Parts: sequence; structure tokens; C-alpha cells
Amino acid sequence: MRRKIVAGNWKMNGSKDLARNLVDQVRAETGALDNGVEVVIIPPAIYVSDVVEQAGSSLAVGVQNVGQWQSGAYTGEISADMAKDQGCRYALVGHSERRQLFGETDDVVAAKVERLASCGLTAVVCVGETLDEREAGRAEAVVAAQVKEGLASVGADQWSNIVVAYEPVWAIGTGKTATAEDAQAMHASIRGVLAEIGAPAESISLLYGGSVKADNAAALFAEPDIDGGLIGGASLVAEDFVSICRSMPAGTKS
Ligand code: PEP
Repeated sequence: MRRKIVAGNWKMNGSKDLARNLVDQVRAETGALDNGVEVVIIPPAIYVSDVVEQAGSSLAVGVQNVGQWQSGAYTGEISADMAKDQGCRYALVGHSERRQLFGETDDVVAAKVERLASCGLTAVVCVGETLDEREAGRAEAVVAAQVKEGLASVGADQWSNIVVAYEPVWAIGTGKTATAEDAQAMHASIRGVLAEIGAPAESISLLYGGSVKADNAAALFAEPDIDGGLIGGASLVAEDFVSICRSMPAGTKS
């Protein structure tokens, strides 16, 4: 049985007020959901402790990035251990904005995944092709390489702490979403790649991200290999985010 997850990535947005008010509302309105969805809030690191305080036990909290080192002279970085120490259970790795703006390579992604796995945090490993790569017919190959290289360090007993988020770069923050059929096809392909590298593919949760909104979430989440969503812009508005969480169908994904 796979975890069904809806995670809200606030990116570099938010404030103490948002951490208090939005999280309160999301907690109140998702607490009673009976569709089995795990709701995760991923604020900027500086607000993690505020969010953890408001989240109680019904919401999980994550960070958007960790350094690939255990500790030391890396000014500005936070470590996987620190995120865990603050009460986080999740961390994003390899988000396309990190890859494009901060030069995060698959090797760096693999090193970060290793750090996270060693302290028991769940790594949400983001993969996805650019528009040029899709138009050149290379989308599946690009994503397969990111999955293989980014997960190269995962030990046999660490797969339960791995989640993969398929986020086509052309769909992030653009209002363009992959169709449910195209997203499902890529998720099935990713599951095939996971099986190829010896992972327990059927038990790994795969999330879709890229302009998921209240009005398209249900169609995406209805697909058999889409186990949830990674939500950017719509996670900053409580009503929209809650409505996306409600769109997860009841029953198991397996
Ligand atoms: C994201 O930041 O991971 C994302 C999917 O953003 P948006 O939902 O705004 O496209």
C-alpha cells in the first residue's frame, strides 16, 4: 500500500502570520478528511519551527532543501539532521528551481538523498523534463536518467523513505498542467525505472507537480500511478490547498 501525499511547497513565500493562519485553517479542515491523505507543509526553513508548532500531529512538515554535508563550514546551509531536530519528516531534493538556479546536479541530489536517508527523513526527489526535451521526444529518457542517478545512493533498507515527484519544468508556475493521461504515462514509466534499479517500485509513492489547482487535482489523483501532488502556488491559499487535499480519492493506491 502506497502513502497518498499532498505536499505544499511555499517556495520563498510566507510570513509568521501565514505560518499561523494558513496552517491553522489547513489543520482544522483536513483533520476530518477520511480519504487517507497525508498532508505536508513545506515552508521556507526560517518558518519551520512556527509551522511545526501550529501543525500539531495531523500535518507533517518538510524543508525545501538541505545541504549535502553532515555539518561544518557551509554558511547559509541547513543539514538533514537539523531539519529532523526541528520536527521535519520530509525534505524536497532536486526541485527544478534548485537545479536551474542553484546548479544542483544529479550527483548533488544523490548526496542529499544519502544524508536524508541516513537520518530517516523522507526525501521527495523531484524530476522532470524541460519543454525542449519534451518536444524533442526525450522526456522519458531525461526523467529516467534523473531517477537512476538521483537515487543511486539509496540502500536496500531505505526505500520506504523515498518519494518521487514528477514535475515537468514547463508546468511549474506556468498554469500549464500535463494532462492526466500524460502524467499517468510518465508515472508508469518512472515506476518501471524504479523496478529496473531494484527498488520496490509498487510501494513507492509518486507525486505529480506542476500547476495543480483545485479544478484539475481530482482528474490527476484518479490515475492509478499518481499517488498525490506537490503543490506550489495553490498551497499558499488555504481554501485551494484544502480543496486539493479533498480531491484525493478514498481507498488504497497499490
Ligand atoms: C512546485 O513548486 O513544485 C510547483 C509544482 O509549483 P506550482 O504548483 O506553482 O506549479
